[in-house]
Amino acid sequence: MSAELAELIRDRQPCVVLTGAGVSTESGIPDFRSPTGLWAQVDPMEYGSIEAFRRDPVKVWSFYKPRVKMLTEAEPNAAHQALAELERNGLVQAVVTQNIDLLHERAGSKDVVEVHGSIRTATCPGCGERYPLERVLELLAEADAPVCPACGGILKPDVVFFGELLPRVAIDRAFELARGAGLLLVVGSALEVYPIAGLPLETTGAGGEVAIVNRGSTAFDDQASLRIDGSAGEVLPAVVAALS
Ligand SMILES: [Zn+2]
Repeated sequence: MSAELAELIRDRQPCVVLTGAGVSTESGIPDFRSPTGLWAQVDPMEYGSIEAFRRDPVKVWSFYKPRVKMLTEAEPNAAHQALAELERNGLVQAVVTQNIDLLHERAGSKDVVEVHGSIRTATCPGCGERYPLERVLELLAEADAPVCPACGGILKPDVVFFGELLPRVAIDRAFELARGAGLLLVVGSALEVYPIAGLPLETTGAGGEVAIVNRGSTAFDDQASLRIDGSAGEVLPAVVAALS
């Protein structure tokens, strides 16, 4: 199967990659919607919504503090590294990701479109000051929630919460990339969350093809040229090997 995927990537350039939580589970980061996922443990409306943050930011940080710590301690896995390698070899144009964990960047991917934001920065809702992750971690070492040194407000991570709009520039770029793709390679996403779940249709609508590497079925399986039910950390390095 990985040989077929390698062939598609070689023949159907440019290749754009779309990644979801499944690409990071092998780095020890739980996904959201599986039975063992994050939202099976905590109520997303209580801990992941903008309303909850406005109501009680300290409570939301009681969930986010250990999560940010876990994300910063996680390491990119073989799938992240393979995608970075394909980009270096000119075989991947860009990675559109729903993940906030920065693992694509840390693996060496250069063109990463973060459609759900990331933990790279946090912003003070009070004064608008933006702080890098290292500063947020310092502030978190001193308190349960990071307090803005400028005004005393509680910082909000620059990740998209439920009830918030997705970042316009990133979404527009993601759709433009999907329309221009000869191949959209979906990795570790069940394609359940819109508008990103609509990207494969943008690609096929413009004459491109879609390949999917995911554990379990996805909403686009019927229309994909190739579908691999397997570990991204095993499949993608095999694809890199087949292409070099
Ligand atoms: Zn402030």
